[in-house]
Amino acid sequence: MRTRLRSLACAVQYNRLHDKLILAFIGVLLSASSVFAQDWSSLYTQTELVEQESKYHYRQEIPRYTRDFIWSALRLDETQRLGNVTLEFPWRGARGAPFDFYADRSRQTIVLPIQSLKFMSDLATAISWFGTYRCDETPLHTYMMLLGSMTPQEFNGEYESPMEALGIPVNARDNPEVDHVANVTYESGLVFVLCHELAHLLYHHPGNLASLPRSISRENEMQADSFALELMSRAAIPPLGMAALMVEQSYFAADIIAFGNDADWEKYQTHPLWVQRVSKLTQSMQAMAPEFSRKQPNPSQTTGGILQCGATLQELATYLADVDLIASELTLARARGVRYLKRACLPQRIGELAGLYDFTMSHPGFPDVVAQMELEQAGEQVSGIYVLYGGTQGVIRGSLVDNRLLFEWELQGLQGSGILSWSQGSTGVMTGTWGYGFSRINCGPCQAVRRR
Ligand SMILES: [Zn+2]
Repeated sequence: MRTRLRSLACAVQYNRLHDKLILAFIGVLLSASSVFAQDWSSLYTQTELVEQESKYHYRQEIPRYTRDFIWSALRLDETQRLGNVTLEFPWRGARGAPFDFYADRSRQTIVLPIQSLKFMSDLATAISWFGTYRCDETPLHTYMMLLGSMTPQEFNGEYESPMEALGIPVNARDNPEVDHVANVTYESGLVFVLCHELAHLLYHHPGNLASLPRSISRENEMQADSFALELMSRAAIPPLGMAALMVEQSYFAADIIAFGNDADWEKYQTHPLWVQRVSKLTQSMQAMAPEFSRKQPNPSQTTGGILQCGATLQELATYLADVDLIASELTLARARGVRYLKRACLPQRIGELAGLYDFTMSHPGFPDVVAQMELEQAGEQVSGIYVLYGGTQGVIRGSLVDNRLLFEWELQGLQGSGILSWSQGSTGVMTGTWGYGFSRINCGPCQAVRRR
């Protein structure tokens, strides 16, 4: 699964040079939008926020998690300097902004609005969903740009959550692969936020960015980032999904990056991203990669994933430096509009799975097993055999549920389950996971590529 995470949560692609030139050209032709006082509180209703809290118990679970995994990674002198830190969970932040986490030094408190936690969780689900079903990520980036730059009226009368706007099914996380990658992404984002805010308290940084000279507030942000990564490396928590969330955050801020002045920047971004900040994060993350990975089941694989995430962040830094490109992308996003987002990444119902496949089962620490698999289909029921190199024969049986193949396998007295899903528009390549016993995931990734 670590391999999948590497390719899913971190494989965020930027524009190829060709697109870049076209976009820059369009950008010159069209006029800029303007930054305005935005209020994102229509993103979720109060009922939705209450439901989220009663389902996930942030107010109990996050303090507990912080105690177990973050507090314990602090050195004694740091604990003493910090003293008592309180976590606070208002329903919304001051502006109801999506990324509205901050540290209030006067009260020694880290503020984590429920709306921002829900948004980060939904965004992690969306990133995972697009990755799992191998969808083009442009609608996801477009959503973030529109959310950051449109008034609620322009948007749809009110803002829509990532799930709603992108037409992602509410039960998206029923797919164990979507769920796993979303969890890892969300957790890594949350831990980074917590450690970063803790650093602001530890270093006595003033909370109000707008009141500080820009150079100092930037220094403070970079110091908080460094400490956050240091703490995550001590706790051996890989910062994998964080990179993917940062990429989306930069799309959200596209309007301010492209058209805002310094005051807008500080006012509307509690944690603005800029080239030097992202570059420094990248360097630290890559330098510490083995430390983050040391408690993972396959440390060298996770280290490889972190290095690849670093490359994603490096691309992000390059992107942030290109204000003209950001401006043109934003213009293009606004031209596409909200309607473009709907049903952007729904796997199609494809009835016909019968055929011969190269079926590859991976298991960390072992060489891949490649088998020939022949499938037959009757309605929703799929059955077949798979034959290993050397001729050992296994049986596979499954059914189509929500455009995925849920299957059981049997081989020489062993049995287990698995899941395969296909990319949009084609059953030529199916990817998923397999496991022993009742697990569909505990062995690792698997893939079926149609041969005829
Ligand atoms: Zn900060």
